[in-house]
Amino acid sequence: MTDWTDRRAAMVDALATRDDLRERTLDAMRAVPRHEFVPEGKRQAAYEDTPLPIGEGQTISAPHMVAIMADLLELEPGDTVLEIGTGCGYHAAVTAEIVGAENVYSVEYHDRLATKARATLESVGYGAVSVRAGDGKEGWPDNAPYDRAYLTCAASTFPQALVDQVRPDGILLGPIGDQRQVLVRAWRRADGSLDRAEHGRVRFVPLQ
Ligand code: SAH
Repeated sequence: MTDWTDRRAAMVDALATRDDLRERTLDAMRAVPRHEFVPEGKRQAAYEDTPLPIGEGQTISAPHMVAIMADLLELEPGDTVLEIGTGCGYHAAVTAEIVGAENVYSVEYHDRLATKARATLESVGYGAVSVRAGDGKEGWPDNAPYDRAYLTCAASTFPQALVDQVRPDGILLGPIGDQRQVLVRAWRRADGSLDRAEHGRVRFVPLQ
């Protein structure tokens, strides 16, 4: 029998030693069973700090990237959050663990991934996360405004719909750039302008 809880704890301890992460983020990483989001054949690697293929040419993000993004978003319980790029749903689950599953809205381009993510989220206790198949460039206007919005796929700039759907003084976060991407965090001001800051080079799959 594989002791997934022990493996997960070891992974989170390693993250805690290396990166300066908030306790709230580490608790969420300790709670979400990443192996359940990874395809059967890749499970043994679920608690290595690395991206893994999930089908449709897409990947599950590396744990440290999910943790760093949770910190940069300054997620607090009760925040409403929009995610673009559900993939397998792991990142959405970590977000849900912090803000509450009913406050998380996620858009996935690939129908099959959206369906699978919904089922996995449900099976591990995050069934209240809302997942929609569609084009994330349009955001998800029905539930706007959001306190936070983030992209898990790289865009050349933050899509205007996303900027419009985040409340004043809310935060947008995502990999921005075409070949070379940087992780950009932006505070959305009341006049719609963005206060941007860069947080290092990253590598994500492209926004479709
Ligand atoms: N959040 C995932 C990582 C997903 S990888 C995790 O938990 O690890 C990025 C995802 O973005 C892929 O599933 C891809 O299909 C999706 N994507 C790409 N372009 C998109 C778009 N325009 N709208 C919504 N999702 C998109």
